[in-house]
Amino acid sequence: MNLKGETQLPKPAPRQVDPQILAHEIVERLTYRIGKDAKAAKPHDWLHAVILSIRDRVIDAWIESTHKTYEEQGRRVYYLSLEFLIGRLMRDAASNMEMLDDLQAALDSLGVDLDLIAALEPDAALGNGGLGRLAACFMESMATVDIPAYGYGIRYVNGMFRQEISDGWQVELPENWLAHGNPWEFERREASYEVGFGGRVDPAECENCGPYQMSWRPAERVIATPYDTPIAGWRGKRVNTLRLWEAQPIDPILLDKFNAGDHLGALSESNRAEALTRVLYPADSSPAGQELRLRQEYFFSSASLQDIVRRHIQYFGDVRTLPDKAAIQLNDTHPAVSVAELMRILVDEHGLDFDEGWDIVRRTFGYTNHTLLPEALESWPVPLFERLLPRHMQIVYAINSRLLGEARKSGQFDDHAIGTISLIDEGGERRVRMGNLAFAGSHSVNGVSALHTDLMKVTVFADLHKLYPARINNKTNGVTFRRWLMQCNHGLFELIREAIGDRFMDDAEALRELDNFADDTAFQERFLAVKRFNKVALADLLRKRINARIDADALFDIQIKRIHEYKRQLLNIIEAVALYDQIRSHPEKDWVPRVKLFGGKAAPSYHNAKLIIKLAGDVARAINHDPSVQGLLKVQFVPNYNVSMAEMMIPAADLSEQISTAGMEASGTGNMKFAVNGALTIGTLDGANVEMRDHVGEDNIVIFGLTAAEVNQRRAEGYNPRAVIEQSRELGQALNAIASGVFSPDDPNRYKDLIQGIYDHDWFMVAADFDSYAAAQRRVDGIWQDQALWAKKAIHNVARMGWFSSDRTIREYAADIWNMG
Ligand SMILES: *Cc1c(COP(=O)(O)O)cnc(C)c1O
Repeated sequence: MNLKGETQLPKPAPRQVDPQILAHEIVERLTYRIGKDAKAAKPHDWLHAVILSIRDRVIDAWIESTHKTYEEQGRRVYYLSLEFLIGRLMRDAASNMEMLDDLQAALDSLGVDLDLIAALEPDAALGNGGLGRLAACFMESMATVDIPAYGYGIRYVNGMFRQEISDGWQVELPENWLAHGNPWEFERREASYEVGFGGRVDPAECENCGPYQMSWRPAERVIATPYDTPIAGWRGKRVNTLRLWEAQPIDPILLDKFNAGDHLGALSESNRAEALTRVLYPADSSPAGQELRLRQEYFFSSASLQDIVRRHIQYFGDVRTLPDKAAIQLNDTHPAVSVAELMRILVDEHGLDFDEGWDIVRRTFGYTNHTLLPEALESWPVPLFERLLPRHMQIVYAINSRLLGEARKSGQFDDHAIGTISLIDEGGERRVRMGNLAFAGSHSVNGVSALHTDLMKVTVFADLHKLYPARINNKTNGVTFRRWLMQCNHGLFELIREAIGDRFMDDAEALRELDNFADDTAFQERFLAVKRFNKVALADLLRKRINARIDADALFDIQIKRIHEYKRQLLNIIEAVALYDQIRSHPEKDWVPRVKLFGGKAAPSYHNAKLIIKLAGDVARAINHDPSVQGLLKVQFVPNYNVSMAEMMIPAADLSEQISTAGMEASGTGNMKFAVNGALTIGTLDGANVEMRDHVGEDNIVIFGLTAAEVNQRRAEGYNPRAVIEQSRELGQALNAIASGVFSPDDPNRYKDLIQGIYDHDWFMVAADFDSYAAAQRRVDGIWQDQALWAKKAIHNVARMGWFSSDRTIREYAADIWNMG
């Protein structure tokens, strides 16, 4: 509608929040939108009605934010990510809109249990692990620090699989998070775009065509339709949009086919389009390498870029000013094809000169690297890339010839170095290197912790870094303290408020004031009481869910994260076996009762990761049923680790296991969540653990093991795990027990190869770090035996973790990468 400037639109009345009004609204939603009366309503109906009531308030703020953005006309941020691991939204939105207490009161008056209906909301699990969760924390923080931002991703019908454990093995089941509808999203059909694949490229036919202008005629087309979800920042200051794309077939063609009697053809085309956004690839930090994955990457990149350029032209008229008004951040290389797509749009659709286009591209994009594992770096076979994206292949070649020209001209590089800079990997089957493409097409390339960024400069991007020395910078990850402290740990939240007031709610660094309470005996006791309350709640949950019997007075030692060999769940399990042995050999000693909890999903095709889950279960069965252990040690694998499970487990943790092989975990964010919830960390000097030690102080964290430099050195010297194992009786015995079938009498050879790998090569330095790890665990026991000392260290952790708020991270992105002052 084109309304004249002076037209006065009726505005919705400002909403008041008070429990009575809210209760009334909820019943109204229940009646007129759900069509049920309060007597007949089921818990799901109440959930829906409550969400609609919260949503109305979010929408008011959303519309206001949109107006503000258009008036300001400043730079906007576009965060492109193939994953958003959001979790539940209801409590988050209600809390950020500051209506949680009123909501609680309103539901009390209606006789509805808030916790019960909250637990019915499905997790939006459109991500694998840390990378996707970071994107979700960033969306919330960008709204909180008042940055106009859009998240762009894919609306997977099936997100992360649900993990069940059957006979100890992981079984993957589809999780249909949309089964009851999704009241948070709005379909925006009017903002749909076509995305093409395949076909051929011809010289463009136009009067004043640029010399580089081509015309791509895709053989296949699909429609990308957006679904918008409002993301409310803290105190509802700003509400930004998460825009997720769904693939749909192009209707007219389908209808033609259908009418012409080609029912199967029409169906297969429709299935083909819908398959694009059906599932999330469940592999974490290893590329799937499947054609469908490249299609997903291009599909969402193209739709997002078309949307960004359309919006820019609509408001500013000229595509040349794009970098002044838009900052596009690439979350890993998954959206890296965007670099070529924006070039295509600028050169082919807007007739820009190649060099001018390239300058615009580089000023617009920033790229965040998330891993140095060589096997995790994305690349695509040239023939596949060329068949699917023929025009983009040409553009990649054209970029590459300029890039290599610059590199040669600089005179710093031999042929080998030129080969590593190239966008094309020429060793063996030729492949397009997505990391190099993202690096070349961005003005900023950032790592996610100080150590990771330093390593980036000397490993994967050593030569590109030499060519563009100003480009690499560090942005240490963070987490949102709203979800990961204020909402998930109500007891601790209230205790902190009582002690230091409310300032930390707006500035996490104000948590520092808690340092003054670390030695206060009364405060320590209350702090430990809150922890115990959370542990009892977790124990209750695990009893109901998996019939686990765990004692809330034991030390809760938790390792939850994706199952990966570099994260070394195996080291933890082997230590449990060694400890089990020690307890049985020395029952007279003063052992600290421990519960070791594991949780995490394995990529369905990752054999060793799945075997490690089975091993955790086998070891648990043996230990938990052995009366000679007298309950001093329990091991439990908790199925289906996800955001909601993390929200229950992290507040209940005494000890946080962050024990990756040094140099392999880019940052970690689980480590941060645990520490702000008052767990002590046992960890290696890897990823953000290094900076956590600097912040909480080395007395308040338990560090062990080789450093990244030492790991390198050991490998260079020719690491011999066998010799190490011979030196450690405890380790040798534990490995032997596992390998010989003590824990798998039904299949004695089950773990033979897994353990043989440690003897033969031990890629992940499990043997090298074992003794140091076991000794660190006994130091942990020693601290635990002095509960006041434990409490003091834990309180220092909470007090000093403020810097790890994702608000701080986002402010750094805004200042250093997005140029937002
Ligand atoms: C925070 C989080 C992660 C990341 O954990 P790391 O220990 O950093 O690997 C993974 N999954 C979920 C559900 C999370 O909440």
